Order: sequence, then structure tokens, then C-alpha cells
Amino acid sequence: MRTSSQFTQLTSHLWVMQSALFATNSGVFLSGGEACLIDPGIAPETVGDIARFVADQGATPRAIVLTHAHWDHVMGPEHFPGVPVIAHNGYMRVLREHSADLYRQIDVWEAQAHICRMCPFMLPKPTYTFDTAMTLTLGDIRLRIFHAPGHAPDQCAVYHTESGTLWAADMLSDSEIPFAYSVNAYAETLAYLATLDIYALIPGHGAPTTDVAEIQRRLAADRAYLAELRARVTAAVAMGQTLAETIAACADMPLPCPCDDPTPHIWNVESAYAELGGPVEGAVGWEREWTR
Ligand SMILES: [Zn+2]
Repeated sequence: MRTSSQFTQLTSHLWVMQSALFATNSGVFLSGGEACLIDPGIAPETVGDIARFVADQGATPRAIVLTHAHWDHVMGPEHFPGVPVIAHNGYMRVLREHSADLYRQIDVWEAQAHICRMCPFMLPKPTYTFDTAMTLTLGDIRLRIFHAPGHAPDQCAVYHTESGTLWAADMLSDSEIPFAYSVNAYAETLAYLATLDIYALIPGHGAPTTDVAEIQRRLAADRAYLAELRARVTAAVAMGQTLAETIAACADMPLPCPCDDPTPHIWNVESAYAELGGPVEGAVGWEREWTR
């Protein structure tokens, strides 16, 4: 690995930059003088660093991939006018249902970060969307962008076959447990990822790694956690347990990485309870998080 200012070269075609905020990763795939940016952000100065890095490489930004419509992943495109934006076709549905929530979350963060704007932030609209997968040709390489739901219904991941590079969006972190909007979809997505040859892994938050044993450890740990979550919640629903009883029944579950805050696990239980047929009133878990 070589490091250039804040960027780390992870593979022959991929550079990664990590923001201090949530240890969020932004990526730049480079080939043949063309750049594909993954989730550039979050702060304006960070996006400026990304733009300068691409220019310093003598490259032209050809595409921006937004892995999903969570506020901390959508701040970049306004700094790259005219550059096509790629997202899953579920992205627009999230915007239709939650744009007010997203604007509110962004307002809160920008106020905390003392960011002053000349003109208001507008949520980016994708230029291209896809259903299952699409291929992006970038210089001499081809990137496969594919639907990877579970953390979010519109989440996509990016895979470069020749180098076994997986940009995993908000999955396979070493510092966050899975945030599972849908335990079923998340488990299915991880089962698919387990069929890929992965030699370089970049989570949306946390440490990228080229250690194959570590990549397999994260995959196995997150799959085991979701399997246990699904089994315990399924059993609780079958026994007619309430949501509170189900949360208690899942309280001693082993987590796939150290986590001081019990909240994400509790929200996982709540979301799984609703998904697996438990009776709930109104939004619970990650669905309710939109309105918090
Ligand atoms: Zn997310």
C-alpha cells in the first residue's frame, strides 16, 4: 500500500480516502485517464480534496456511484456538476419517501459542522439507474455495479473482477455491526458476496483491507450474526413474544465486532421482528430511525 496525502492506494486501480466522520470511505477507481468516484464526501473540503486528487492524477471524472440514499453518502455530486451519477433504481423511491428526512438530517449535520452555504443543498438525482446490475467501462477496466440490499433497500456494491476488489457499501465493517434494515435481504446479499473472490475489501465505514483471512472473518462473523438474529426472532415470533420480550431474548447475542452502543443491535431486532411477522404498530427499528 502506498499513501498519497490522505489517499491510500489499495489496488492498482483503486484509491481510498477516509473521513474522520464515521470513518467514512470514499473511493476513486482510475484507469486510462478516467475516474469513477464512489460516495465522494462527506465534508466540502473532503470532496475538494477528492477533486484535486483526480486532477493531480491527470484523470477526468466519468461517473459517480452513490451506493445508497443515506445522507452521509449523497453529499458529493453537487461538487461535480455534469458528471453522471449512478444509483440503484430504488434510490429514487427512497428519495420520494424520505427526502424531507434526508434534508433534515443534512441540515442538522451542516449546522453542527458550521457549514455555510451560498445555495441550498439539493439531493442528487441519478443519471443512470439499474435493476439487478450494470457494467461501467472505465478506461481499460470494467466495474460491475450490483444491487446489494439489506442495509438499505437501494444499496449497491461495486466489484472489479480482475483484481477481486469489492466496494461493499455499508457492509463488512470492522467497526460497525451490520445495520440490517432487512435481515432476509442482508443475509442473501452476504451469501452472494461469499461466492465472489475478494482480495481487497472496502466497507463504507471502517478499515479497508487486503488481508484475505480478515475479509473471510468479517464475512463469516456478519453472516453468523444475521443467522442468529433471524433464528432468535423467528422463534420469538412463533412463541407469540412481544417486541420487548424479543429484544430481551436477543440481548445476550454475540456481536460480530466490538460495539459499545447497544442501539444498532436493538434496532436490528426491531426491524427483524416486523419483517418476520411480529405484530408492530407504526414504524420500528431502522424504519423509525428516519424520523428520529
Ligand atoms: Zn448507510
